[in-house]
Amino acid sequence: HQNDRESMLVVTTFAAGYFMDRLHKSDEGKSVGLGYFRERNFRDDIIQKFQLGYSPESRDAFTKEALRQGYKLDFLEKTGLTIVRDDYKADRFRGRVIFPIHSLAGKVIGFGGRVLRTDAKTAKYLNSPESEIYHKSKVLYGMYQARQEIARQDRCILVEGYTDVLSFHQAGISNVVASSGTALTPDQIRLIARFSKNLTIIFDGDAAGIKASLRGIDLVLEEGLNVKVLLLPDGEDPDSYAKKLGGEALRAYIQKHETDFIRFKTGLLLEEAKDDPIARARLVQDIVRTISVIPDSITRTEYVKDCSNLMKVEEQVLYMEIGKLRKKRQ
Ligand code: ATP
Ligand code: MN
Ligand code: MN
Ligand code: MN
Repeated sequence: HQNDRESMLVVTTFAAGYFMDRLHKSDEGKSVGLGYFRERNFRDDIIQKFQLGYSPESRDAFTKEALRQGYKLDFLEKTGLTIVRDDYKADRFRGRVIFPIHSLAGKVIGFGGRVLRTDAKTAKYLNSPESEIYHKSKVLYGMYQARQEIARQDRCILVEGYTDVLSFHQAGISNVVASSGTALTPDQIRLIARFSKNLTIIFDGDAAGIKASLRGIDLVLEEGLNVKVLLLPDGEDPDSYAKKLGGEALRAYIQKHETDFIRFKTGLLLEEAKDDPIARARLVQDIVRTISVIPDSITRTEYVKDCSNLMKVEEQVLYMEIGKLRKKRQ
């Protein structure tokens, strides 16, 4: 299978080059594709840095060119670039702008493609299917471009989407990766942990964003990461807000508003529970569970102090409950 993987990488590398070439050199790509990125105010250096591209409208322009140059249909299909049914062949990403997805070593292993105009019947983004070279649950978009800065600043910023990553780089914030709209997996968390144990998660400022900010984060704490969260104003996402504020103000905004996750969660739940004793008891249980998954005992102690103050519950009570939960898990 090593041979298969190599052949697939040769095909994805060719495809990335083809899509870039179309974006910059074809009339259609220049007007439609580059036009799209320009309309969204993405600079040329960002378009280059992320090797953005364009896949023509035509049903099979890419597949035809690949076959003409001797690439094998088998690998075009295995990488998901070509959809094959009987003797019908079509380009998966036709008529979309292209975001190549890189491995840590900088090889192109997959693609995201966005429609130029969103409507109800077409999915806004399409991604490469799972394959021997592309495992969605192990990859974070932008890690190849961000990994050095994540290590240097000893902090990783996590956002939702492709364009969020692009806009942060454009604003001069380069320690950023995207989960591509799904909850973080254990593999992705470990990938981040290889470069830094400090994570800031930026959520879209909508109801879904607030819910997402509470979900799944225990998994991140379990891996021993320190987590801060930042909720954007209603209706904003990292891309739109970065463009609104610009680099300097964005940096200041993050500094001012990022909050420790457990403190954030406690505050949010306290607000919900008000003076209802049953809701407050549930809240304490919830926070205790979250603290109990943290592997480091000194960090747990800090949180117990903090949350004891916030929730007005004796530290001793919290320690006892945490002890019970940890014992149960052993
Ligand atoms: P844009 O700014 O280009 O409209 P976005 O990144 O703000 O895109 P969201 O709707 O916020 O888009 O979704 C966040 C991320 O979730 C996307 O960047 C993409 O990775 C993923 N995503 C969104 N819609 C889809 C879809 N229909 N199929 C697969 N993935 C999707
Ligand atoms: Mn969103
Ligand atoms: Mn978004
Ligand atoms: Mn967006």
